[in-house]
Amino acid sequence: MINLFRKKKINSKVVLINPQKRFNIISYPKPYERFFPDDKPVRDIHIYERIIFKCNSCDNEIELTDKDFEKHQKREFSNLNKHDKTETENYIKQKKSFDKFSYLDFYYPDCKLPIRVLFEGGWGGKMGEYGFVIEKIIEILKKTTKAQHNIQVQ
Ligand SMILES: [Zn+2]
Repeated sequence: MINLFRKKKINSKVVLINPQKRFNIISYPKPYERFFPDDKPVRDIHIYERIIFKCNSCDNEIELTDKDFEKHQKREFSNLNKHDKTETENYIKQKKSFDKFSYLDFYYPDCKLPIRVLFEGGWGGKMGEYGFVIEKIIEILKKTTKAQHNIQVQ
């Protein structure tokens, strides 16, 4: 008997990436160099800082803003589809210390690689400005993602 309802096999792998490998800066606002040796490092909220994510799969860049992170601070809102969200969350469950992080997830616009950025954020400083530190990046590598990618670069 032929099984017509065989489950479609999705070849995917969840990988943990060091944020330094994808982002130009991992803490925002960036602490600035001291002017005098005994000064404390300063954070200048008036200096606009670009937050650039560089995709490893297609090499293209995407610019995020502090508002993107602030919007997702401690909110359970995912931009991933049900399958990718479940896969990411199953992975996080295995890593106990990851629960405390807020997250921002999205599909990379070009190669459709699903990405979840784990970060810790909060409001502080003299002006109560929002700041964050990017802690981990989770990527779901798929055969289909790779195939799409290959078509694009040819
Ligand atoms: Zn990409």
